[in-house]
Amino acid sequence: MKVYFIGAGPGDPELITVKGKKAIERSGYCIYAGSLINPDILKYCRMDSKKYNSASMTLEEIISVMEEAKVKNEDVARVHTGDPSIYGAIQEQMTELDKRGIDYEVIPGVSSFLAAASALKQELTLPGVSQTVVITRIEGKTPVPTTEKLEKLAETKATLCIFLSIKEINKVVSVLKPIYGESCPAAIVYKASWKDEKVIISNLANIADEAIHGHIEKTAIILVGNVLSKNFEYSKLYDKHFSHAYRQET
Ligand code: SAH
Repeated sequence: MKVYFIGAGPGDPELITVKGKKAIERSGYCIYAGSLINPDILKYCRMDSKKYNSASMTLEEIISVMEEAKVKNEDVARVHTGDPSIYGAIQEQMTELDKRGIDYEVIPGVSSFLAAASALKQELTLPGVSQTVVITRIEGKTPVPTTEKLEKLAETKATLCIFLSIKEINKVVSVLKPIYGESCPAAIVYKASWKDEKVIISNLANIADEAIHGHIEKTAIILVGNVLSKNFEYSKLYDKHFSHAYRQET
């Protein structure tokens, strides 16, 4: 018996890994993050599997379902949105499983910031512009350490992928504008990879107004950075003047 923490991907049910899908298919129990998971993912569940929506459950309730599965010697598919290591609240579940000697494995998934980059047809690391991607959020009920406040991270001028913050878009913009500049490109991807995905491509001067007019209030990633201007140097990787271990100069 094992608990599988599975990254279901950002929404499109085809964006789950083969390994994640197989684990869902064979598990007798499925505990899924109902607020964000595409219900189509649940079609992969075994016909007779017991399904629980974790959105309305406490940690204790989730763990007790896992304990029940252990007694019945059934695997558990614990299905999280995107990749479970990003704002997934999996660490506490794993700590509780350690205490009970219940075996588990983490199966990664496509995080929503990667689906957002895909929707924008955008590389997040462009030579001469930015070689760093920052995954962050504005403080909500979960505090953000002072050393990681958006104004501090902004000093890097790196590509920012801001989760869980669309409701605070005005605050995000007011913090970033003095550092990145009003004309710095910014984008919002709502429900990346879902059928009702929406994309806004703008700049820091206008993005907040556009999000508000577009009624985008949840399930969105904010991307900010000069990579979005696509003004960059071509990479050395495929440059004919450079050789490397896999390709000799001709
Ligand atoms: N583990 C998830 C993130 C969970 S936190 C992942 O790797 O993607 C929930 C936040 O993720 C949302 O508030 C939103 O900022 C973002 N999010 C999740 N799914 C999304 C999607 N399909 N499109 C855009 N943002 C999404």
